[in-house]
Amino acid sequence: MSRIIDGKAISAAVKERVKKGVAELDEIGVPVGLAVIIVGDDPASKVYVANKKKACEDLGIISEEYALPAETTQEELLSIIETLNKRPSINGILCQLPLPKHLDEKLIINSILPEKDVDAFHPHNVGRIMIGDYDFVPCTPAGIMEMLEAEGIDVSGKSCVVIGRSNIVGKPMGMLLLHKNGTVTICHSKTQNLKEICRGADILVAAVGRAGFVTADMVKEGAVVIDVGMNRVDGKLCGDVDYEAVKDKVSVITPVPGGVGPMTIAMLMQNTLTAAKKQNNIKG
Ligand code: NAP
Repeated sequence: MSRIIDGKAISAAVKERVKKGVAELDEIGVPVGLAVIIVGDDPASKVYVANKKKACEDLGIISEEYALPAETTQEELLSIIETLNKRPSINGILCQLPLPKHLDEKLIINSILPEKDVDAFHPHNVGRIMIGDYDFVPCTPAGIMEMLEAEGIDVSGKSCVVIGRSNIVGKPMGMLLLHKNGTVTICHSKTQNLKEICRGADILVAAVGRAGFVTADMVKEGAVVIDVGMNRVDGKLCGDVDYEAVKDKVSVITPVPGGVGPMTIAMLMQNTLTAAKKQNNIKG
């Protein structure tokens, strides 16, 4: 019988911790502020932004939303970011991705001050993650590390396999596991013998974006399986792991929904609090 990680409960504990930290800063006259920029009408992005706003409200973080029309020019967007970079009351800035095609995503991300880059997508923060000296980590991998810790899962010396090498999930996930002394393999669409590699994993992280991609014959008996996938099949949210078939073979598994998903927003809130502390030279 496997243990099912309750992402909702762990994220609630993180949020409670953040709420306390935000209140402590507020008491000494340091309000915490997050600016969220959304360009265009992508329905999924709108839902994510609404959820982020709600989380801010719940935790006492002041949120400012910049909902811009799809035809916003690069200059207009850069000018808004420049203004937000300069405002001391804004500690974190995030630009909801994807952006409309005519906007240069790389340029936009690079224009956010690294100390306000609470998504940790700026090359400065990416480099700091690489050398293991970082303030922020992209929220999804950060949330997974938080989950592993909360569940008492020791990464050291374990064989860790990450399927997916995106800049926001797969690559930073691999680095974080490596920093915790895991022996890490990052797989992708060109990987050969994927099944065999996955079968050797003590900890398997699936971040592929394909429903039911990880089947029971790809996992080792007793492994820890973390499912990052968020796929819609007939309107139903499901992960990258064939949950029903895999769950009884492994020792620990995250469900979708209710696993990694709730952790992502909680870690964004955590990053925003960290940013506020750093910008105001507050330790802890
Ligand atoms: P992505 O940028 O599309 O990356 C997908 C990765 O999977 C790529 O590296 C790709 O390899 C690899 N891949 C695709 N087909 C493969 C195959 N047949 N065998 C092995 N690898 C394969 O996606 P992402 O942004 O990392 O997101 C991954 C999933 O996580 C999505 O379902 C997304 O919705 C979800 N997600 C969830 C959260 C959350 O909060 N729970 C947050 C972010 C993302 P190549 O590089 O070779 O193309």
